[in-house]
Amino acid sequence: MFNEQLLALENKHLRRTLKTVTSAAGPVINFEGRSVIQFGSNNYLGLANHPRVKEAAIHGIQEYGVGAGAARLLAGTQPPHQLLESDLAQFKTTESALMYGTGYSASIGTIPALAGADDLILVDRLCHASLLDGCRISRATFRIFHHNDANHLEQLLSKRTGCRKTLIVTEGVFSMDGDVAPLPDIIWLATQFGANLLIDDAHGTGVMGHTGRGTLEHFRIPSDTEALFQMGTLSKALGTVGGFVAGPRSFIEYLINTSRSFIYTTAPPASMAAAARVAIQIVQTEPGRRARLWQNRNQLHEGLKAMGFHLTNTETPILPIILRDPELATAFSANLLKRGLYAPAIRPPTVPKGTSRLRLTVTSEHSTEHINAALSAFATVKKELNVMT
Ligand code: PMP
Repeated sequence: MFNEQLLALENKHLRRTLKTVTSAAGPVINFEGRSVIQFGSNNYLGLANHPRVKEAAIHGIQEYGVGAGAARLLAGTQPPHQLLESDLAQFKTTESALMYGTGYSASIGTIPALAGADDLILVDRLCHASLLDGCRISRATFRIFHHNDANHLEQLLSKRTGCRKTLIVTEGVFSMDGDVAPLPDIIWLATQFGANLLIDDAHGTGVMGHTGRGTLEHFRIPSDTEALFQMGTLSKALGTVGGFVAGPRSFIEYLINTSRSFIYTTAPPASMAAAARVAIQIVQTEPGRRARLWQNRNQLHEGLKAMGFHLTNTETPILPIILRDPELATAFSANLLKRGLYAPAIRPPTVPKGTSRLRLTVTSEHSTEHINAALSAFATVKKELNVMT
């Protein structure tokens, strides 16, 4: 039965398989036995293999062991968890913050606390699967608004009837398109219509804003507002693993009391909390990393645009090249790999049908040579596969 279904996926060029990387995260990785330049990770600032971040994790293991052995509300809370939460609150300029095991569990654990069966959720069409799953779990009615379209959001808000509460859900930086949500407009609408707003800034944290605090900082919007809730992950620019929610103290207390994906799971290792604390410190004290990241991003973006590729409206280090067809995206990616470049093909259901793409991510750790090598491989494969865009 499953073989038939797998074959059906394969025939549509949508079958996925696990590949092995036999090196640490970095601008060059060993992928399936070959050394390749990595353009497919969210390790934007190179912190996943940073000596000080690793040292903090090792020290955390030495002091607190490998596993916490219990859920946070039982005997699983250790000092690094609490210290990280206090650092996150400071970093995100909120009253309080809470660590989850992953960003995924933060999504599915937060939305049901903000909206229930009688409520309405308005969610951007391109929001991450974990946010959509959170909407489903909440049992609220949810409607999708057109991507980054504040006018459509306003229409849906105006049409509301009989809902107790409304929650708007968006990402700060969209994971598969690299574009930025129109947060000033969305916040204005949320205020006008008395709605709550949840921003998942998984890809904005560490990357966006003058000091890397995220997309709100990019727009110079204060984050200590009553109806504003933020979440994110420690697993991208912060280089470790874990999710977080940041917001008013009473909300965080409420999550501790009701959020199932926080309560009914073992505490994340204290070592990860300790490592994430150092990562946040580096984000704030080494602005040069962000400067290099943006410089690299601009070089690669300009080069790809000059070759005539169809990119999304990206404004960030996520550079998606739309090829539409999953077979072409897969072939392009495989061809790049032969030339020593890892640039993954992203296909439905991760992205909408007809929008299969290569999703490149650039980091602060890439050199000019890496980027030039990428551009030259792209030019060759484009010609070879006769890609017109
Ligand atoms: N939200 C967004 C926007 C993401 O891109 C991701 C990671 N793909 C997550 C949440 C989940 O984060 P994590 O990998 O920490 O579970």
